[in-house]
Amino acid sequence: MDKIIMKTPLVEMDGDEMTRVLWKMIKDELLTPFIDLKTEYYDLGLKYRDETDDQVTIDSALATKKYGVAVKCATITPNAARVEEYGLKQMWKSPNGTIRAILDGTVFRTPIKVKGIEPTVRTWKKPITIARHAYGDVYKASEMKIHGAGKTELVYTDPAGNETRELIHVFDGPGIIQGMHNINASIASFARSCFTYALEKKEDLWFSTKDTISKKYDHTFKDIFQEIFDKEYKEKFDAAGIEYFYTLIDDAVARVIRSEGGFIWACKNYDGDVMSDMIATAFGSLAMMTSVLVSPDGIYEYEAAHGTVQRHYYKYLKGEETSTNSVATIFAWTGALRKRGQLDEIPELVTFADKLEKATIDTIESGTMTGDLALISTLENAHKVSSEDFIKAVRAQLEKTL
Ligand code: NAP
Ligand code: MG
Repeated sequence: MDKIIMKTPLVEMDGDEMTRVLWKMIKDELLTPFIDLKTEYYDLGLKYRDETDDQVTIDSALATKKYGVAVKCATITPNAARVEEYGLKQMWKSPNGTIRAILDGTVFRTPIKVKGIEPTVRTWKKPITIARHAYGDVYKASEMKIHGAGKTELVYTDPAGNETRELIHVFDGPGIIQGMHNINASIASFARSCFTYALEKKEDLWFSTKDTISKKYDHTFKDIFQEIFDKEYKEKFDAAGIEYFYTLIDDAVARVIRSEGGFIWACKNYDGDVMSDMIATAFGSLAMMTSVLVSPDGIYEYEAAHGTVQRHYYKYLKGEETSTNSVATIFAWTGALRKRGQLDEIPELVTFADKLEKATIDTIESGTMTGDLALISTLENAHKVSSEDFIKAVRAQLEKTL
């Protein structure tokens, strides 16, 4: 068989620990034997980030802007322990945060459904995608402890020095206050990313906030979404036969649980943080979740939703056998290859991505899986294999279909 030829390079962001080990196995076993893999390689492993004063992270994000599609391995976000472990010059920022700030995107996370791993919610037949706004609110808030009686206010000072004030509370004893913000431009790009993604997936888009209580803050989110939808997307949604609807978050929660799934649920930053862990867990596992960052101008960065699986890596370093789930990382590659194939009009590449995903799912559904899944699978013949043997089993399955 001739290898599939690519036209434009994928931006490849290598990472850390166990996922870096899986990354190489996936390339060697599942990709390079079949594709003339064209990538522009950036080593986001912590050691090289430190050597380059994190410039490599910035360069990889800029390359993503240039080429349009990236695939990223999980990376360490350093804390004090990592600074010591790696002898770092400083506690570098989260690479995901740096990349998101440059690409200005929204993160979409979707569970990968397989037979034998049944959702906790019996009515869910199709995956539910969470679209999480990744800017502002409580993540960029200022807070204050109030130690005794006194008046607290929000103050806005315009460039001419005029002040507008809003009373928060008149305290007669100790308490707490918080001030948070968002930016209309960021909310608008969040909205456009969601509408674009819904059209691409041909799935309904739900959006929920608490605008009945937060009549200015949350209401602004609701209004910006509605205005952009009516002006730019309504006709396209009608043509695609999909729907956008807004509802209160408490109503959304009740409807999500009663639903069959198969839609996109847009959430404000905090709601998305909480709901995506709930959805991932209820569908089975974080290692069975795809994750893609989509910018409003149509740039895509695919990754796994989980971390670098540090505990497994230390076992691996000691020469012990590991059974680490590579599904989310395989799907990061297939997502990126499929997108590249669509943009460059290489149908073989799109078909290859489809076949690799199917081979991965078929392998698990035939009973061969990593330990995390074998523990919860309802299949009678479910058996645990090593990290490497799982990838080899996927390859054998894939070769049958090529
Ligand atoms: P983690 O790597 O996601 O792992 C947490 C635990 O979840 C693991 O110990 C393992 O449980 C289970 N797990 C996660 N992924 C798995 C997989 N693919 N296969 C099997 N089991 C899996 O999170 P963490 O330990 O909190 O973080 C480790 C490092 O990852 C940190 O340095 C953090 O900064 C980084 N991180 C990176 C990203 C990213 O780049 N997107 C995201 C999150 C965290 P058992 O040990 O019980 O088997
Ligand atoms: Mg979280």
